[in-house]
Amino acid sequence: MGEKKVWLKHYPEDIPSSLSYDNKPLHYFLEEAAARYKEKKALYFQGKELTYAELLMQAKKFANYLQGLGVVKGDRVAIMLPNSPQSVISYYGSLMAGAIVVQTNPLYTERELEYQLNDSGAKVIVCLDILVPRVTNVKKDTSLEHMIVTGIKDYLPFPKNLIYPFIQKKQYNIVVKVEESSDTHSWTSLMDKAKAEYQAIEVDPVEDIALLQYTGGTTGFPKGVMLTHRNLVSNALACNAWIYKMKHGEETILGVLPFFHVYGMTAVMNISVLTGSRMVLLPKFDAGEVLKTIHKLKPTIFPGAPTIYIGILNHPDLNKYDLSSIEACISGSAPLPVEVQEKFEKVTGGKLVEGYGLTESSPVTHANLIYGNRVSGSIGLPWPDTDAKIVRAETFEEVEIGEVGELAVKGPQVMKGYWNKPEDTESVMKDGWLLTGDLGYMDKDGYFFIVDRKKDMIIAGGYNIYPREVEEVLYEHEAIQETVVAGVPDPYRGETVKAYVVLKEGSAVTEEELNKFCRERLAAYKVPRIYEFRKELPKTAVGKILRRQLIDEEKKKIKEE
Ligand code: AMP
Repeated sequence: MGEKKVWLKHYPEDIPSSLSYDNKPLHYFLEEAAARYKEKKALYFQGKELTYAELLMQAKKFANYLQGLGVVKGDRVAIMLPNSPQSVISYYGSLMAGAIVVQTNPLYTERELEYQLNDSGAKVIVCLDILVPRVTNVKKDTSLEHMIVTGIKDYLPFPKNLIYPFIQKKQYNIVVKVEESSDTHSWTSLMDKAKAEYQAIEVDPVEDIALLQYTGGTTGFPKGVMLTHRNLVSNALACNAWIYKMKHGEETILGVLPFFHVYGMTAVMNISVLTGSRMVLLPKFDAGEVLKTIHKLKPTIFPGAPTIYIGILNHPDLNKYDLSSIEACISGSAPLPVEVQEKFEKVTGGKLVEGYGLTESSPVTHANLIYGNRVSGSIGLPWPDTDAKIVRAETFEEVEIGEVGELAVKGPQVMKGYWNKPEDTESVMKDGWLLTGDLGYMDKDGYFFIVDRKKDMIIAGGYNIYPREVEEVLYEHEAIQETVVAGVPDPYRGETVKAYVVLKEGSAVTEEELNKFCRERLAAYKVPRIYEFRKELPKTAVGKILRRQLIDEEKKKIKEE
């Protein structure tokens, strides 16, 4: 089935099934954009803008400074920043210097940070001044040699409400004074001192690693995914081909997905620079702030995740804002409830389609067509140059059409492997195919459907239950704003189905009512046995609900009883 690529029959004429890739590194996007769109705005952040020429100049200065610090090809540079001009400049600047970027979540605790710095062997870190105490506390136990520090107030200031939760609230008013030394460097003096020229490094795009992107944080032990220049270039080019009505040099992309996650990095930052678009940066998701920003700055493209769209649709002031500039959105990282898709399209008049991907594939492998045939509830069709099949994980044999198995993907976006973990790499890669860990099926037309993550499937009393199916039903209930279903330990059934529910403001519903609602729509064994009403649900930085954290809480409670 994978060989035949039945899905290609749905490709519109203007989307090629295969793309050509120049033998160029990822940072070439910025050099080209600066040549073509020199004075066009590249970034907007808190009322200030940078043109493409300025962005390139500052990235070159950053590269020059790194090379002055002794950074050579293949050295790792960690970037611990929320979305900001500095996060974009240091990303492209590090690549220009020949370094491998290590994206670090600014929410990491010391323990997580220390693990990542040691695992990656990072030599330099770029961070906000308020994160300096955290970095300093772990520095001596890592291979870090230099810290480049940028202020939250003195350089393109970060707004108070958007910098939480990266810092504790009281910290905002503390002036963090960073003393410069041989291993501590301030961003402002770096920009003053450095020259806008750097020693160009020869890059083999197919072999050389551009990025170590850590994943597994929500489900297992974090591993560094090695993504090459070609992996990232090809995914941005495919994204550009898919959103085929994108007008180069004219679009505005809303950058609310964090760039320290692969999804925001490709679907906002790299695609924006590739197409000479203006990116509007928000350091954190806040529904009110997003609404105001759309109203004022009129973005045309808005990549997001389901919880982001849900947050916007449920904002009490939704109707006060004009959202009609939105033309195209791809929702990824978790299943998009059909209800949310329809409502969002009605409110904005733009298209919102579901896509799918994972860190190990840079990330996108599938999406629905934005202008063309699409299937609600499906992750859509494999992207150009991407092959996909559904297999039995143990034997790697393909299953029948419509049968559930593990999704495997192959293409130019699939990682080189896990950093220093050949055994882990071997367990997920077979002959260039990546086993995604997601269960799904393909219909006869070549549309793919994810039923759930292998690890999230609930086995209750011997029955297999996919949380997603139950969540879809709950989302149909008018009182429910957000929900997640998980398998929690049960002495009789092994696991039992539990639903965590956040209600819409002003709505009320009882457990009995929800139970009745689910019973009418689901087989009895799938109906949640336990409901818990919460004010909010724990989420990752891209808005994925942390199902594992809820299960762990449940296990802890049982232990304590
Ligand atoms: P990450 O590596 O953090 O990007 O997470 C990747 C995982 O997110 C995938 O393996 C899927 O389990 C999940 N995911 C991404 N997109 C979707 C989608 N459209 N529907 C269901 N799950 C998704």
